[in-house]
Amino acid sequence: MFLKALTYNQTPILELKDSLLQEANVRLLIKCEYLNHPLVSGNKWWKLKYNLVEAARLGKKRLLTFGGAYSNHIYATAATANELGFELVGIIRGEETLPLNSTLAFAKGKGMQLHYVTREDYRKKTEPDFQKKLTDLFGDFYLIPEGGTNELAVKGVAEFANSLLRELKFDYLSLPVGTGGTIAGIISGLDAEKKIIGFPALKGAQFLEREIRTYTDKENWQLMYDYHFGGYAKSTKELTDFMEQFERAHNIPLDPIYTAKMMFGIFDLVKQGFFKRGSTLLIVHTGGLQDRL
Ligand SMILES: *Cc1c(COP(=O)(O)O)cnc(C)c1O
Repeated sequence: MFLKALTYNQTPILELKDSLLQEANVRLLIKCEYLNHPLVSGNKWWKLKYNLVEAARLGKKRLLTFGGAYSNHIYATAATANELGFELVGIIRGEETLPLNSTLAFAKGKGMQLHYVTREDYRKKTEPDFQKKLTDLFGDFYLIPEGGTNELAVKGVAEFANSLLRELKFDYLSLPVGTGGTIAGIISGLDAEKKIIGFPALKGAQFLEREIRTYTDKENWQLMYDYHFGGYAKSTKELTDFMEQFERAHNIPLDPIYTAKMMFGIFDLVKQGFFKRGSTLLIVHTGGLQDRL
């Protein structure tokens, strides 16, 4: 079958042990979704799944998507599209810099045609005129939006969230947030008893609330805006120190853009007594480790 090439590996759930957690009487479980596919690593597998099914159903030969030069979505799309035999165009924000960084070198190696557009043009990427230009340039394609977020991505992640309900009991679920597609899917796939807590990786991310509400009308979720460490792909010594110490203590790798910020935020909230005593928090490790696995 078509999706067989998109092999999904079942991933473990590990419990984090720490004196702080004992004192707070909170259980932290971590769903190691970064191990779900050797190349896709994480939430992008679920976001791409039904988009790839739909592209095949429509008989599309070519996919086109968007991203920055370090985009995990570009990497994941290149990996899966190549395995499934699609041609692939990546519209990349900004100018070409050589040598290509590891993300773009990988994408190119997987056959992605890289097409660079100015930041100004990139901002127009959802406008009909711009999309018409792309059709003139590249012919017919199946469009996957930036970050892979659309209805079909939300459907895929909801399926993942639903499978978690069958696997274990928990009170809270936490995950990092970029475009909001993954958290929207998690909210959709869980029951209303759970509380979902998202950690945006970018600064000034309040606009995400509206974005998320386009996919769900549930209210059992909250975004924590104070853990962006300066903004998207920005970092501080406090964050890198925390990341090193966490990896040493728990032997679970983090990525500096998404999962490290979330984990820092979770431990900070535990310290503040945010989580009810006796409760269980399930953390979704969304990946972002393709350079390290
Ligand atoms: C892309 C990505 C996210 C953000 O997902 P959204 O659906 O855009 O919110 C979170 N974590 C990792 C590791 C990612 O690569």
